[in-house]
Amino acid sequence: QGKVAGKHTVVFFSAAVSATMQRQARLESDLRRALARGEFRLLYQPQVELRTGALTGVEALLRWQHPELGWIAPQDFIPVAEESGLIVPLGAWILQEACRQGARWRAQRGVHPLRVAVNVSALQFGHADFVGVVLRALQTSGLPPELLTLEITESVVIGDLGAVTERIAELKRLGVRLSLDDFGTGYSSLAYLRHLPIDEVKIDKVFLPPLSAPDTSHDTTRARDAAEDRAMVQAIVSLAHALELEVVAEGVEDAAQLAFLRDTGCDGAQGYLFGPPVAAAAVPATRPPPWLPLRATAGGAYTER
Ligand code: C2E
Ligand code: MG
Ligand code: MG
Ligand code: MG
Repeated sequence: QGKVAGKHTVVFFSAAVSATMQRQARLESDLRRALARGEFRLLYQPQVELRTGALTGVEALLRWQHPELGWIAPQDFIPVAEESGLIVPLGAWILQEACRQGARWRAQRGVHPLRVAVNVSALQFGHADFVGVVLRALQTSGLPPELLTLEITESVVIGDLGAVTERIAELKRLGVRLSLDDFGTGYSSLAYLRHLPIDEVKIDKVFLPPLSAPDTSHDTTRARDAAEDRAMVQAIVSLAHALELEVVAEGVEDAAQLAFLRDTGCDGAQGYLFGPPVAAAAVPATRPPPWLPLRATAGGAYTER
């Protein structure tokens, strides 16, 4: 019986693997055409300054509308784009597009411009011409460099730390901001934080599981996990501030998380509570946006309703 089960397992496994490989191969060949066919678009998710409730920035998030497969999530095709090297031209398009949109917002919003954050993959970051690509995106769009934030992950840093530090310094000389994304999920985070000339840390959403869902399980493990998550967030915020870095929390979904983040002194937040990624035209034009649970006080600051 074990033999039969084993045999079936092997058959099932190899079928699954070859289906995955076929899908990868298909995605790769389709990706080559997708850029020319205009199948990519960027959505923008609001980033809010917690002290004031103001909408201060957006993160550009890539979407691919495949003609037959429909919308494909970035996790499903960015690894394919990296393996095939297509991430280099795709990444250049993303930067051009995001900077162009950022410059449009700047023209529309006057004294309250929006920062635009762009995710950069490790392969793209390491490409010889990357600094030139960023510079050209800024020049052709006219976006002031301080309104562009490049989000890199710790996977960028793995490898030659000296070379990575020098590249970040080059980008800093252009005047752009740098953010370390998904912080706390990679390796040796603490050493990187100290040595890299970055401006911001984004706390990964794994440390912010929704807090407000009623806990009917009487599960002490769950309560302990939540306390540990909170301790991680507090530690990251105080470490980042000690190093004079801004901290943004991602994946903020409910009011309890928001209250906690305000208490810790976290600088910014992003998540479904404030809004999902949306088309550029749907990004609120006001500051603070009306959908925030905040109201103006006499002093012009904003407090929770
Ligand atoms: P990321 O940079 O950490 O982006 C945050 C992800 O969390 C986004 O997923 C966003 O839609 C999602 N998210 C936002 N708010 C919430 C929330 O309240 N709860 C939960 N559970 N999720 C939330 P998305 O758009 O699917 O992107 C996934 C990842 O794909 C990104 O993670 C980033 O690593 C990568 N990615 C997206 N766009 C680009 C791009 O233009 N270039 C590169 N290289 N990578 C990208
Ligand atoms: Mg990001
Ligand atoms: Mg992230
Ligand atoms: Mg993430």
